Amino acid sequence: MTYREPARTTTRRIRIRRTRVAGLLVVIAAIAGSLGYHGPASSSSTAASPIDVLRSEHHRLRSEHRGPLGEADGAVPDGTTVFDDEIPGVANVDPALLGALRDAATDAADEGVEFYVDSGWRSREYQQQLLREAVSKYGSEKEAARWVASPNTSAHVSGDAVDIRPFDATAWLSDHGAAYGLCQIYRNEPWHYELSPEAIDHGCPSIYADPTQYPRMQQ
Ligand SMILES: [Zn+2]
Repeated sequence: MTYREPARTTTRRIRIRRTRVAGLLVVIAAIAGSLGYHGPASSSSTAASPIDVLRSEHHRLRSEHRGPLGEADGAVPDGTTVFDDEIPGVANVDPALLGALRDAATDAADEGVEFYVDSGWRSREYQQQLLREAVSKYGSEKEAARWVASPNTSAHVSGDAVDIRPFDATAWLSDHGAAYGLCQIYRNEPWHYELSPEAIDHGCPSIYADPTQYPRMQQ
């Protein structure tokens, strides 16, 4: 739960304190259930799990204040899929990662699960803008670093990461991604996938709590 934003954690605690006896147990069960992104399929149909809320915050952060930056810098329109070659945010993703995502998306579609790209490749300028926004949102560079990498370390800038939505798709990848070499890297970013070819035979490597824990991200 360390990845929760402070404000939301406080709200949740207050809500729990105010809830009495029977209600308390229900709340605890609900939180425990919805926090597990490996959880049962039914959790995808609940209105807003903490991960969904967190995810949409992240999305909003990326979507607003785009300013002069547009598709050429990696912003992707709603409804973009991993097959949309004409969109730079997709076209500039590493071909091996894109291929794995397309294979996975094709198989997931057979099960009624659709993959959408929330963010793929990003220009250095776009990443720098996201970092500036994160510093202003989270109040410090240290806290912002848990959510947004610098242009020098971001796997999005190098074309080695794709953020997938919605929850159904990331839940599908959580269960099946390793077979395609697709791995979640950070616990606090269940939508962020990178290619790890050895995962096909050996499973995905252990997940880092957040980007600050990953040696690659140290500057
Ligand atoms: Zn990402």
